[in-house]
Amino acid sequence: MKPLVAIVGRPNVGKSTLFNRLAGRRLALVQDEPGVTRDRHYADAEWEGRKFTFIDTGGFVPGDEDQLLQQVREQAQLAVDECDVIVFVTDARAGLTAADEAVANFLRKSGKPVVLAANKLDTTTGQMLALAGEFYRLGLGDVQALSAEHGLGMQELFDAVTAKLPPKEEGEDEEAPPDDGLIRMAIIGRPNAGKSTLVNAILKEKRVVASEVAGTTRDPVDSELTYKGRKIVLTDTAGIRRKKSIAQRVEQFSVIAALKAMERSDVAVLLMDATEPAVDQDAKLAGLAEERGRALVIVVNKWDLVGADQRRQETYRESLKYALKFVGYAPILFTSALTGSKVEKVVDVATELAEQFRFRAPTPQLNRLLEHMVDNNPAPIVRGKPLRLYYIAQVAAAPPTFALTVNHPEGVPDMYKRYITNQLRKTFDLRVPIRLIFKGRP
Ligand code: GDP
Ligand code: GDP
Repeated sequence: MKPLVAIVGRPNVGKSTLFNRLAGRRLALVQDEPGVTRDRHYADAEWEGRKFTFIDTGGFVPGDEDQLLQQVREQAQLAVDECDVIVFVTDARAGLTAADEAVANFLRKSGKPVVLAANKLDTTTGQMLALAGEFYRLGLGDVQALSAEHGLGMQELFDAVTAKLPPKEEGEDEEAPPDDGLIRMAIIGRPNAGKSTLVNAILKEKRVVASEVAGTTRDPVDSELTYKGRKIVLTDTAGIRRKKSIAQRVEQFSVIAALKAMERSDVAVLLMDATEPAVDQDAKLAGLAEERGRALVIVVNKWDLVGADQRRQETYRESLKYALKFVGYAPILFTSALTGSKVEKVVDVATELAEQFRFRAPTPQLNRLLEHMVDNNPAPIVRGKPLRLYYIAQVAAAPPTFALTVNHPEGVPDMYKRYITNQLRKTFDLRVPIRLIFKGRP
């Protein structure tokens, strides 16, 4: 997978500001589903031909000085455990603090590559830059002067980060896992949602044949199995946690683990705890799957503790659908990993989604659909002229990606994009993310 670059630092130094600036660099090709108003916690970047992902390890809860220090250390530990390069952000206006020194000591000992940034240097006057000087005392090498708010020093920051990335590995830029017939499922979810229990329950299913030889994967948290003639690899992100365990208390851990597991999966199985709805964190994980373009099945686990009432289930499903509107296409299942109830269904649905994820639409059928779409829904007016749709073609699978040639590629209204997406979903029965690309006529 692409290297991960952690952004760490105490509260208020400007991490979120920096992060939003980095996230703004996101490729404009990717279409947002409606209703996406989530905090961003990672941002893809590309610099000098190298691709990598920034991760915000933020998420501090208020507390006294000691608690703050403890949290800052945990963030740093998480970054050291899980990421390749660390950007350590400080506030040059506030000057060096005890928390900065604690983090610096910790990072220095870890031996991880660190880029030290002094933020809030809004002008490049000598007086301002002198403020950065003090941070050399941290013993982390060069200090990158930064103004996250005004976007100053960004190129230098990117240069410094790229210089410290590990050597490029073959295939690390691939957006999707290889199409080799294997179905890869990542079991993601908050701590204690029941991920390990689910993996064990799946392996105990009658029709599941667990693989004796671990041939295809190297990771110890992967389980290989055969189900109805298909080879499946399950990645349990809770397993990753147990293996390392140090930074597990940090809320952001499940996000990083999910990101890593998803990177090499076709389908994300998002496990939620029916007795402990925490929609924010679950929505974050669902959003990750959407942004990464992975198939997603939402599984409400521990349903045995809620009861078998059918009406209750429908009410729950409706409110969940509303909270997770931006992944409205994802099937929702109710299970008990403990009793094994509906566990096989999870594998069935995930397998089906993995197939849709690799789906390729026949071009003649696509063009018939285009005609039908234009006939049935008058094209909107863009800059005083009707929008014209000339051709449609599927340009990629995993996830299905369609290119449309139109007269005003920049002006296609969101509502019309949604209409096209929905028509594609209906016609081809696709319950996975769909990407649209609009191009002008050459
Ligand atoms: P975080 O807690 O580390 O994520 O910090 P935030 O990004 O929330 O920023 C804390 C405060 O510092 C906010 O009021 C920002 O507007 C401000 N801030 C962030 N970056 C800069 C900067 O480059 N210059 C100045 N002057 N203020 C900044
Ligand atoms: P993980 O951290 O997501 O891997 O969660 P675990 O699989 O370790 O499960 C956490 C706790 O929830 C354990 O005590 C499990 O026995 C329990 N648990 C998991 N699934 C279920 C379920 O479907 N029903 C009930 N009642 N308990 C469950």
